[in-house]
Order: sequence, then structure tokens, then C-alpha cells
Amino acid sequence: MILNISRGKNFQECRQKSFNWDELRLQTWRESDPLIVGEGYHLGSEVVSQTADVNEAMDATEKRMRERYSKSLILPEEQPDIERNILWARHAVAQWAENYDRADFRVLMPEVKGCVPIPGTEHHCWFAHRLLYPNLPFEECDGSSNVACWQPHYLAFKTDGIIEMYKVIYLLEQKTTAKLGNDFWIKFQLDAQVRGYCYGVWKATGIIVSGVLINAIVKHSKQITLNGVKKYQLDPTNVGFEREPILVTMKDMLDFEKEFVQLANDYELAYRTNNIYKNTGACFHYNRKCEYFDLCKRDQQQLEGEFKPREADYVQDHYYTVLGLPNPKEATCSATTKDAELEENSQTTTSSAPTVEKS
Ligand code: SF4
Repeated sequence: MILNISRGKNFQECRQKSFNWDELRLQTWRESDPLIVGEGYHLGSEVVSQTADVNEAMDATEKRMRERYSKSLILPEEQPDIERNILWARHAVAQWAENYDRADFRVLMPEVKGCVPIPGTEHHCWFAHRLLYPNLPFEECDGSSNVACWQPHYLAFKTDGIIEMYKVIYLLEQKTTAKLGNDFWIKFQLDAQVRGYCYGVWKATGIIVSGVLINAIVKHSKQITLNGVKKYQLDPTNVGFEREPILVTMKDMLDFEKEFVQLANDYELAYRTNNIYKNTGACFHYNRKCEYFDLCKRDQQQLEGEFKPREADYVQDHYYTVLGLPNPKEATCSATTKDAELEENSQTTTSSAPTVEKS
């Protein structure tokens, strides 16, 4: 199977949540603000690295965030908070550009992404089988004639970039956060993403990095009184930066590999045997109510129109690439492009994405 870090974390957190997102692809009509802010900021910081044009970067951030918000159900009273989020992300990108300009590091690769096989994990893959042979029951596939569904586990990943700082090579990871307590930094020492990204970059490029430089972009709030009620509100012009290098050794990466295989085995078995259950201890993680809370209270009975279908993500795209199957998403894009181009009486060309890309 193909697993990325966030799918693995979701599965460990709550199988029901993982199933609703990964398999049923249920997305709420109101995406969480931290995700939209994080995506907007990431895009802007990439544009800074690639073009050094701050205005272009800030505009790209705002455009992406407005696009994401336009697909959400926004109540009129939420609009001022959304404008504050957009303003904050623009400021964060501008300050990143200022910081980057004077930075004591050099960006070697702005982004590395890939899908790397884990050695020694070849097995009769249930996820590959159902895509390759949807009409043949898994138990009736002997594997000798249908060799394509014998696959290893794969780690899919996408990092913010590889940098050199004081002659040491690190991965760069940018994290937007509201709090910076002691635990904020300590948790990265055992974090699956930190080890997993180093592992993925090693397997995809052969580069063994020394660790991950975490760049924290800190949001600050101020207390206001609204209709007599005190509340904290994001200060859109107050952006803080702090950073910390987290060292990762070969032993850490091999430890990650071992646990990743165990996790992928558990994930695949759970999905194959429908061994999906709730972990109600996770319903309020990250200080917010899980988007499936009401659905869980209703024993997974959906109301009409309650969720929208989640768009295919890069993990799903990798399945089609790895298995050499046409990606339905690309077919749709290609058909749309073709329609448009036919109108202009020109020709259409398509290309499939490579498994490992550096950009
Ligand atoms: S509401 Fe709780 S039990 Fe239900 S999917 Fe979310 S985290 Fe899991």
C-alpha cells in the first residue's frame, strides 16, 4: 500500500476518522482555518524561494486562500476573521521573504517529493489488487498470474526543501503555530514526520541529511471585548519566527522504517477486514471538535448534503503511477483541456507524473 505520514497519524489517532477521510472521502463544507492558513503560507514561501518576488508571493497566498474559502460554507459573521487570516498570512510571507533575504542558509532544493518503496515488504497488496482487478475477489487471486498486485509498501512524502546551514544539510519544515511552549520543540525529537521525511529524502535522492530545521511561524492573539464578552482575536500584523534544528541519525531512520512497515501492515489489514472503530478520546484533539463528531453520534448515518466529496490527493495519484494505470483525475483534466483546445483548433498532449520528482 501507499501511505503518507498524515494518513498514518490519522489512522493511529482514530480508525473511523481515517476511514471517513481516506476511504469515504467525506469533507466538511467548512475547512479548518489553520489548514487554509498553512497552505496559503506554504505556497507564498515557495514563491519567495523560487522568484524572490515578495508581492507575487503574497498575492499567490491570498489567491490560494480565497480559492479554498470559496469552496467552504462561510457564515457572514465569520468573514472578518477570514480577512484577518488572509492578512496574517500575507504578513507572514512578507516577513519570511525578509528573513530569507538575510538568511544564514542556502536552499539547495526548494521542494522534494516522492513515493519510495520500503525494502522487503513485497506482499499481495489489497489496495493494488482492488484497483487492478476490481472484478476478481482478493481471496481468489493467487498472485502467480496477477503479479502486478504483488507490491511493497510505499512511503509518499512532500517536504518544504533541502537547505545548507553552516555546512550542515537539513530538511526545512515550516510550521505555523499559535503556541511555543517547551513541548513544542521536544515533540519533534520523536516525530514521525521528521524522521520519515529524512528517510524519504534519503531513499529518493541518496542524500543523507543531518536532520530537520523547524521554522516556526508564530501567530499572536490579543484580548478584545465583543458585546461584553472577552475573547482572543488573531493579531494580523504580529508574526513571530523561531527555529530549531532537530538532528536525525541513521538509527532514527531505520527505527522509522521498521515502525512504518508495522503501521502499514495494520492499516492494510484493518481496511481489508473492515476492522474500523472509533477512538472517542481523539474527538477534541487540537482543541477543536472532530468534523465527524455528529456523524459518529448518528452511527455513521449521513444527512443528505452533509459532506462534499474530497478531491483526490497525491497518495491516490501515486497508486495510478505505480501501477501504470490511467489516472481518472488526469483523464478528466485531459478531457477538459482537450475540449478547450479543440475549440481553439489545436492539439492536446498529456504526460504522466514521475514517481520521484525534485523541483
Ligand atoms: S468524532 Fe471522535 S470517534 Fe468519531 S471519527 Fe472523530 S475522532 Fe473518531
